[in-house]
Amino acid sequence: MVLEIVKYGHPVLRKKGERIESITPEIKQLIADMFETMNENHGVGLAAQQIGVAKQLTVIDVREITDRPSTLELDGKPADVASIMPLVLINPEVTPAGEAVKGGEGCLSFPEIFAEISRPGTVDVKALNAKGKPIAFRCGGLLARAVQHETDHLNGLLFIDRMDRKTKEELQPELDDLQAATKKALGKK
Ligand code: ZN
Repeated sequence: MVLEIVKYGHPVLRKKGERIESITPEIKQLIADMFETMNENHGVGLAAQQIGVAKQLTVIDVREITDRPSTLELDGKPADVASIMPLVLINPEVTPAGEAVKGGEGCLSFPEIFAEISRPGTVDVKALNAKGKPIAFRCGGLLARAVQHETDHLNGLLFIDRMDRKTKEELQPELDDLQAATKKALGKK
């Protein structure tokens, strides 16, 4: 089922997600719905907070983006990025493993807002997969950016928190409008 995406201004986006201790039927359904919602909206990643659930769960799929490469290493060896797609990360832990690089980012909770964000270009990731099995990999490029953006969501952090001051100042009127519209819509429910 395609779910409604929560927009900036909704308090759930600032909530740290609860850890998931077991893969219940509800979690399986949530994962399926999150993929459907992400694909419907042509997103690269979606965090549980973005569909109103504060849990440590995110889904990612970078395969549709061909002009921004991703890299993957499994057990220290280069691997095919597609081999781990679509990707489910539960309770992810992300450790920087490279220099910061700038790259463009958007977010389904911030329609039509894009900005250059500086983040480590390579990261090590540990998480549980959709079956609750531990996985570990090193990634770079777009995938590293997506993993960090989504893991931030799980901790109540948003890409506006990573923008430099000038970028955020320029976007502030749009951010204020979006926040006000979201709060107004919430008040009507
Ligand atoms: Zn986002």
